[in-house]
Amino acid sequence: MSTAPRAEFEKKTLRDLEVAEGTAVLVRVDFNVPLEDGEVADDSRIRAALPTIEDLRGRGARLVLCSHLGRPKGPDPATSLAPVSRRLGELIGQRVHQAPEVVGPEVRRGVARLDPGEVLVLENTRWEPGETKNDPELARALAEPVDLFVDDAFGAVHRAHATTVGVAELLPSAAGFLLEREVTTLRGIVEDPERPFVVVLGGAKVTDKIALIERFLDLADVLLVGGAMCFAFFRSQGHTTGDSLVEEAGVALAGEALRKAEESDCRLLLPEDLVLGSAFEADAELRELDGVDVPEGWMGLDVGPKTAARYAEEVAKAGTVFWNGPMGAFELEPFAAGTRAVAEAVAAAPGTTVVGGGDSGAALVRFGLADRVTHLSTGGGASLELLEGKALPGVEALDDR
Ligand code: ADP
Ligand code: MG
Repeated sequence: MSTAPRAEFEKKTLRDLEVAEGTAVLVRVDFNVPLEDGEVADDSRIRAALPTIEDLRGRGARLVLCSHLGRPKGPDPATSLAPVSRRLGELIGQRVHQAPEVVGPEVRRGVARLDPGEVLVLENTRWEPGETKNDPELARALAEPVDLFVDDAFGAVHRAHATTVGVAELLPSAAGFLLEREVTTLRGIVEDPERPFVVVLGGAKVTDKIALIERFLDLADVLLVGGAMCFAFFRSQGHTTGDSLVEEAGVALAGEALRKAEESDCRLLLPEDLVLGSAFEADAELRELDGVDVPEGWMGLDVGPKTAARYAEEVAKAGTVFWNGPMGAFELEPFAAGTRAVAEAVAAAPGTTVVGGGDSGAALVRFGLADRVTHLSTGGGASLELLEGKALPGVEALDDR
């Protein structure tokens, strides 16, 4: 693994912000963590926000943190941020206060009582229906008790919500360290990649990733395709796909991408062998197929060992690797080998290695390889939209330098 080239960042960051002892700072964080039995099951997103939190505490700010968690449609104790507050308190070694609401009198009182260096966590922002509508009333209520706004929630900047865009327009604002690192690293690999630039794309649907495929056909030297997505490609080439997950809407798009690949300087590789299962189950009957014509009654659930070795070889030679989307149904252990092989190759690669969050990030964490890559993005959707070249409303809304 090597350090990534960084793109320029045109927005103010934490370093540009004047924070005096007692300044009240609202920080949008991405604490959308998995919960199990009322406890935080994976605290990586909380840890990822610590540099920003600790910097502001060190400067004597009074910190108000807000985040969504899950997709509640209103107040719902099962999605309370209280377990997150407890975990954050353990991580910073100081009690963290939990507000019972997102905005309102209790929040105002809570903010007023904060001492410099203390932290108050607001309730789940999705408890307020105005959040996803970017309601100006909600944005005003969020901005009212604080002086400054810092956005460190990379995972949410592709959405124009009250806690990303609305509040940024009302207060002096800046990006936190995590947001800055995510944006400059991801932009860096597409703007100025060390070559060869090898992209590994997998996952469920071609339609989710087609914009990325098209973009990387212009930018990358090698594009390695795996996951259920490859069956749309195989179908477009006339192969049989058996009971594999084929996205009908993706077949024509995949065919189009193959034609585009022929004209581009990018080599697009598809699997040459597969692991088949009789059903989408861990205890399904399993067989290897040397080739890609899937017979009736079987589904392709992983790439085969030849493909995995071939892809690993390309990754090892890369100056830059970007990986998004598992190579197979890795949640089922018998079908995890292809994804594991790619994950291990990415971890061992000497080049800059960036993984695009979502299920691929989860796979990396499960294989214990998360700290062996240059950058593991905390944002699934946001990282894809950035790489597709789309504007990120939550970044655009921050003050320019
Ligand atoms: P990411 O979140 O990394 O972008 P996706 O959400 O696109 O990835 O895809 C991940 C899902 O795709 C996983 O749940 C995995 O089980 C599924 N998947 C991958 N390959 C196959 C396959 N061959 N058959 C069925 N499902 C698959
Ligand atoms: Mg996913």
